Amino acid sequence: MPAETKLFRCLKDNYGVLIHDSTSGATAAIDAPEAAPVEAALKAAGWTLTDILVTHHHADHTDGIAELKKKYNCRVVAPKAEAGKIPMVDRTVSEGDKVSVGALTANVIETPGHTAGHITYWFHGDKLAFAGDTLFSIGCGRVIEGTPEMMWASLKKLRDLPGDTQVYCGHEYTLANIKFALTIEPDNAALKARAAEAAKQIADGIWTVPTTIDEEKAANPFLRADVPSVAAAVGLAGKPAAEVFAEVRARKNKF
Ligand code: ZN
Ligand code: FE
Repeated sequence: MPAETKLFRCLKDNYGVLIHDSTSGATAAIDAPEAAPVEAALKAAGWTLTDILVTHHHADHTDGIAELKKKYNCRVVAPKAEAGKIPMVDRTVSEGDKVSVGALTANVIETPGHTAGHITYWFHGDKLAFAGDTLFSIGCGRVIEGTPEMMWASLKKLRDLPGDTQVYCGHEYTLANIKFALTIEPDNAALKARAAEAAKQIADGIWTVPTTIDEEKAANPFLRADVPSVAAAVGLAGKPAAEVFAEVRARKNKF
């Protein structure tokens, strides 16, 4: 049976998401921004929480853990490098580890940069990736604990996933990201199409997430730092991609 997912909003602009295995009844929450919306989503679907898969230690991804753990006694899986900053961790994971949610399996991909130990959960069999605050639709997370080189390497790992992988991310920032991306690539046809699509999705009250790797490769400037026209657009023609990425990220920070 294929995985079922359920996406919902938390806090100001966070996304919460559940992944469910109907064979076993197992259900995982990817991060726990706050308990109440997670519980509401579980109730609406008739699911019981068995696992919380944490992408990184920031409070807007972990503040709901204690309450959910108390209510459901679920397993908490977290990146090894950040386990000391995350409450009630039962299992720590790092690059290459596998995490089961019932009959579903996620591969752990280390994607540091936003935080030093950030990880992505890739359910390859279901073509789903949960990228936390590393990759956003038409954007990426701020480089807070790592270096731009580190973040670029992480984004390249995600870019290498199969193109039809559906990517869930931690925040709804899509329209603001598109506005910025158009300053870098005003003539990118895929980006212009995504801008029209996302504006309609928001107007219709539909999520702009999940996105796909193929869609992001075509329109997300942070995945396109090694495209010559992007380097030229930021005055760095011929320079290393990590340098181009750093410049694009710096411009977004000031945007
Ligand atoms: Zn974060
Ligand atoms: Fe966040």
